[in-house]
Amino acid sequence: MRDCLFCRIVRKEVPASVAFEDETVLAFCDIHPQAPLHLLLIPKKHIRSVDALEAGDGAVVGHLFEVARDLARAHGVAAGGYRLVTNTNEGAGQSVWHMHFHLLGGRPFGWPPG
Ligand code: 5GP
Ligand code: ZN
Repeated sequence: MRDCLFCRIVRKEVPASVAFEDETVLAFCDIHPQAPLHLLLIPKKHIRSVDALEAGDGAVVGHLFEVARDLARAHGVAAGGYRLVTNTNEGAGQSVWHMHFHLLGGRPFGWPPG
């Protein structure tokens, strides 16, 4: 997608602090961190949101969870606890229309979320 911000980050047209990259996923620091650790994990393929997932997307979604697990451990937040959040559509607060998981850690989190 030519004008999608996160596709532009995948293509390195927009700079980002990359924490992990392989053939199918990219993880980078959120520009407005909401916790000591706040990474965004995305499929390199443009998928608009969880609501737009298609049958063949299961492998990359599963891989995103594995990458999240490994990044949480690598950044030392796994034992203390972390959040993996994906806001889906406007009412839930989605503001970038390329599916992403927020990986948040390094502080306590309340429930229910705001
Ligand atoms: P959403 O609101 O869709 O759940 O999350 C979008 C996230 O993208 C927000 O947390 C926001 O701070 C982050 N974000 C927006 N623009 C940029 C950018 O240009 N670079 C980076 N690294 N993060 C961004
Ligand atoms: Zn995109």
